[in-house]
Amino acid sequence: MRDLSTLPRIGFGLFPTPLHKLQNISHLLGTNVWIKRDDLIGMGLGGNKVRKLEFLLADAKVRGAEVVFTTGGAQSNHAMLTAACANRLGLRPILILKKRGVTACKGNQLLEKLMGTEVHFMDTDSYDDIYEEMDRMGRAIGKTYYKIPCGGSNALGSLGYVDCVREIAAQGQPFTHLICAEGSGGTHAGIALGARIFMPDTTVVGMKVDTDPFEEITPAIMREAAKLLELDIEIENDGVLHRDVCGPGYAVASKEGNEAIALMAKHEGLFLDPVYTGKAFGGLIAMAREGAFGPDDNVLFLHSGGAGGLFAVDMD
Ligand SMILES: *Cc1c(COP(=O)(O)O)cnc(C)c1O
Repeated sequence: MRDLSTLPRIGFGLFPTPLHKLQNISHLLGTNVWIKRDDLIGMGLGGNKVRKLEFLLADAKVRGAEVVFTTGGAQSNHAMLTAACANRLGLRPILILKKRGVTACKGNQLLEKLMGTEVHFMDTDSYDDIYEEMDRMGRAIGKTYYKIPCGGSNALGSLGYVDCVREIAAQGQPFTHLICAEGSGGTHAGIALGARIFMPDTTVVGMKVDTDPFEEITPAIMREAAKLLELDIEIENDGVLHRDVCGPGYAVASKEGNEAIALMAKHEGLFLDPVYTGKAFGGLIAMAREGAFGPDDNVLFLHSGGAGGLFAVDMD
């Protein structure tokens, strides 16, 4: 396997992020629940995209880019964090977001305004239209540009979460389960591949907050990432575990998600968001109630950020 530290990478995060036990929730759920605080990662309002951007923006620099495009939903945490990280590097970020959803100057839109970010909204449901528009705009600007896919979820971006599992293993507490939200697949892919390498006895579950076919998307990212790492391993689609927690739709609050947000807020003084982490933690609670975890199990939940969305997405 290729040593991760030999790949180009830019340090945006403050690592290792803290990891601690949720005493009250562990008591309520009858198992040991821990949390990995990537919400405290040290850029913007925190969040998982920073780990991916360390590799993606390093690649942009290596390729001589001056302009960086990315995309996502109107309240994309990923797009906001891309702008934050690109600005710090002196690259010019341009966001082309889907028009559907909350485009009012709330949440991540407000943060983008504070950073003076160039944001365009496109009235389409297809990311392919948006990637074409990036090429059109990039050619018109006439500078070398770099396109980051939705969520930063390609093989290179997912290496941020392969490295996160290395970091978790080095923090010394063994885990029976790792649980994360799955919105474009890169985080789950990185964690699942990282677990194969650094924590082979640990079960990884991705909580699907969107309706895309993650049963294919996520293992495909893992295979590409394994190639980048020159790793010779077989990845079967059905060896990658998911649970559907999407509820009424992507970025539409769910009852289970809202309950999970309230439980975490009331008992632990921590805040989850309605789009990703609330629904994902709702899935963890459901698994606990179904008896999926024993009293001696240690279950690690990734707090992947999302604070921007908490102030923008309707929770009713
Ligand atoms: C993007 C995001 C996720 C999902 O990660 P993917 O790699 O896109 O699957 C989870 N939580 C938050 C807060 C996010 O912004």
